[in-house]
Amino acid sequence: MRLPLKYLALLLMCISLHVGAAPKLYVFDCGRVLLDDLAMFNIKPEESDVRELFVPCYIVRHDDGILFWDGGLPRAVVGSEPPASDSGPTMQYERWIIDQMADMGLSPADITHAAYSHLHFDHSGAANALVENTVLMQKAEWESAFDEDLEFVDSGSYAGLQQAKLQLIDGDHDVFGDGSVQLIYTPGHTPGHQSLLVMLEKTGPVVLSGDLYHTRANRTLRRVPTFNYSAEQTLESMDKMDRLLAETGATLWIEHDKALADTLKKAPAYYD
Ligand SMILES: [Zn+2]
Repeated sequence: MRLPLKYLALLLMCISLHVGAAPKLYVFDCGRVLLDDLAMFNIKPEESDVRELFVPCYIVRHDDGILFWDGGLPRAVVGSEPPASDSGPTMQYERWIIDQMADMGLSPADITHAAYSHLHFDHSGAANALVENTVLMQKAEWESAFDEDLEFVDSGSYAGLQQAKLQLIDGDHDVFGDGSVQLIYTPGHTPGHQSLLVMLEKTGPVVLSGDLYHTRANRTLRRVPTFNYSAEQTLESMDKMDRLLAETGATLWIEHDKALADTLKKAPAYYD
C-alpha cells in the first residue's frame, strides 16, 4: 500500500521534530572533596564508608539552546596543593571547567542558560565566568544569596551574577518549553535549592538531584545534613523527589556520588 504523500510528509515531520528535541547530557569532572567522616551529613562512620565526594558540572545541549548546570569547585582550587595537615576536608580540581569546555569547542558565549542547584561554593565555582547568558535562579535562593549569616554562604564565586541576566523563578520550570529539561524545586538544603530533570531518549529520564542527597546513605536513611537551611523542607523535597521518580521512571543521579561518577562517561562523550 502506498502512503498518501501528505501523510508521509506529516510522518517525516513528526520524526524530525521528535529527534530534534532530544537533549544530550554531558558530565564533567569539576573536582572532589576528601573527608575524614560524614558527620556534617548526619551519617555515622559505620553507616557509610564514603569519604570522597565527586564534584560535577553538566551541560545539556538542546536544539533551542545550551544549559549549563552546576558550576563545580572554585577556580582557585584548580591545580592547588592540598594543605600539609591531613585532617579536615580537602579539595582537588584538575582542569578548570571553562578549559574543559574549550576542549569541546564551547566558549561561555555559547551557553544560553545557566542554572545552579544552589549557590554553595562547590556548585557555583564557574558562575562568575558565565554571566553573558540567562541565569535561571529560584527567587528564594537569590534573596538569601548574600546573607552571610547562613551556613556556607560565600558569594565570591557568584558575585558577578548581580550583573547577569537573571530570570527569577518560583517553583518548577520548563527550561525550553517542551518538557525535555525541567528545573524541579526541591528547597531545604538551601532556601531555593533545585534539581534538574532531563528527558533523554535512549538513556531514559535522569534526575540530577543537586545536594538533596549527598550520599546514597542520606537517601536510604532519609538523613538531613546538620547544616541544612530547613530540615522540614528537605524532607518534603525528598517526598516530592520520590513522587517524581515514581511518575517519570527517572534514574536518580546523586551528584556527589563518587561510586556512580566512576561509572559515568565524561564529556566529550554524552548521554542521549
Ligand atoms: Zn555540594
